[in-house]
Order: sequence, then C-alpha cells, then structure tokens
Amino acid sequence: SETLLEINDLAVSFSTQGGEVQAVRGVSFAVAPGETVAIVGESGCGKSVTAQSIMRLVPEPPGRIKHGSIHLNGKDLAALSDKQMRSVRGKQIGMIFQDPMTSLNPTLTVGDQLTEGILTHENISKSEAEKKAVELLNLVGIANPQERLKLYPHQFSGGMRQRIMIAMALMCKPSLLIADEPTTALDVTIQAQIIDLFKEIQEKTGVAIIIITHDLGVVAQIADRINVMYAGEIVESGTVKEIFYKPQHPYTRGLLTSVPRLDGDRSQPLIPIAGTPPDLFSPPEGCAFTSRCKYAMEVCRAYDPAVTHLSDRHFTKCWLQDERAEKPF
Ligand code: SF4
Ligand code: MG
Repeated sequence: SETLLEINDLAVSFSTQGGEVQAVRGVSFAVAPGETVAIVGESGCGKSVTAQSIMRLVPEPPGRIKHGSIHLNGKDLAALSDKQMRSVRGKQIGMIFQDPMTSLNPTLTVGDQLTEGILTHENISKSEAEKKAVELLNLVGIANPQERLKLYPHQFSGGMRQRIMIAMALMCKPSLLIADEPTTALDVTIQAQIIDLFKEIQEKTGVAIIIITHDLGVVAQIADRINVMYAGEIVESGTVKEIFYKPQHPYTRGLLTSVPRLDGDRSQPLIPIAGTPPDLFSPPEGCAFTSRCKYAMEVCRAYDPAVTHLSDRHFTKCWLQDERAEKPF
C-alpha cells in the first residue's frame, strides 16, 4: 500500500544539566494517504517530541536526533535544507497546537493573517487571497466569514480560535496534518465538535492526520489506528477496534480504564494508573512499565520485551504475549 510518511527507528534525546534525557527511544510507524493515526500517552512519553521531529522542530541543541529516519513521500526530511524544510512545513504538513493563541498574532485581524499567509505561499492577487480566506473559514464551519474576517483573535471563543488554527493549517492544502492535543484546552462539547470537524475536513480534502493526545476517548471516533506510547516507545499499536476491544499491553488496559466508556456508561469508576513513568535519564534495562505493572515477572525486569505481532497491524511490546516468557532464561 501507498505510504505518505514513514518513521523508522527514531531516537531523540535532550541534554540537560542532569544528563541526557532519552525522550524518544526507537519509534517506527507509517501513515498512508488520507489515514488518521493517533499517538496516545501520558505527558512526557515522547509523543510531542515525535511530532516535532517530523516537522524538524526539535531545538538542536539541547535536542538531538540520535538515529532513525523520517521520509515524507519517499523524501528523507533530514536531507533537506532549512529553506526546503520551511516549504515542506508550510505546504505539505500543517500543524495545530493545543493553544491557538500561541500561534495567532493578537495584533492582526484573522482576515489579514489568513490573506498574508496565503500570499506568502501563492502568487495571486490580494482579492483572490481574500476569496480563499473566506473559503477556508467556510471549510472549518465558521458562519458569516466576510464579517468574521474583520475580527481579532481575542474576539473569538476558544473553540472558534481552534477552527481558525485549523483553517491556517489547511491554507496550502497539505497532505498531512499534525494536531498536538488539539482539544485539550476545550470543554467536552466543543471537543466533540472539533473532532467532527477533523472528520469532515478529511472527507472533503483527503488529508492524512496524526492526532496526539493523552486521552484515548478523544480519538475513538476519528482514528484508524492508535499508537500507544510509554517512556519513549510505542508499546502497543493497532486499529481502534483492536485497541479498544482487544488491548494487550497492561499500560493500554490501564489507559482504557481511565477513559469514559464509548457507550457513555458511567457506572464503572474511572481508575487512573498508579505510579509514575520511569526516569528517562537512565531508562530501565527491562520493560519500562515494570514498576507500575501488576503482571510484572522476573524476565520483565531483566530484559526489554520484544515486539509480538497479534495481527497484521496489531502489535505489542510485552513479555505477557511473548511465548518465550514461559521458559526460564
Ligand atoms: Fe508488565 Fe512485563 Fe508486560 Fe512490562 S513486559 S508490561 S512489566 S508484563
Ligand atoms: Mg505534549
């Protein structure tokens, strides 16, 4: 099948006064055109750093890509000049962050920001750019675009501002949209509307989406596949059905019990996962989840679990699924 984005064995570290933090430790996954892939995990698990690596936005130093490769449409992004990479960021990859105010200019009207952005990428007249700005606001479901374009960012609600950010990210018809915690700052009703908007946009434009979140519940409605990250690694990956109905890794199961149920049944209490992730200055020898895992065995402490495939697309990195774990080492 076709591949839009391919990440292979990516490792990223940050040097700090306390030593080197191994934020991403050997992450591999691919995204097909038009697909939605979610990256889910607690804060500090390496999900945002993975996204920044795709955009080549990891600050170096203190950050460093230790090894691995990222290909977009077959092109090695590491081989591009800064100028070429800026054009990839504008035209091929759009990015949406948690807080739209950090990316919107408070001193310019939304219309000026959109038309300016369009004009830096396209050689068209100002009035054509304004027409495109109106089309973009229509696409993201903002009514009366002509009037709204005259307003400043602070005159919009949080949900509306996120819609404007999405319009900005779609400006150059990217083939990939990366959304890092796009709904975290919003209340639950607005969250659902933004997720619906992503679905709608994907149907209309065919854009592929990587959505990053700490909340599995957010991605149930939209993702094709879910990568669960823990301590810098993907510990389980599968389709939404596989992750929600056949979770294998104890961490994934833990995440699921801390998420409201898909059918809205609130009778079961939500149980957060006890404990904290390991220190990534010196990741443990064995499985990084050992200290929080109620199934931890001797072998888990001693040896890093290998990847076990449960189906075509479903894999987990846990000794419980590895038949060798039965035998003493
Ligand atoms: Fe738990 Fe062992 Fe699996 Fe790690 S490898 S998640 S400690 S059972
Ligand atoms: Mg983050």
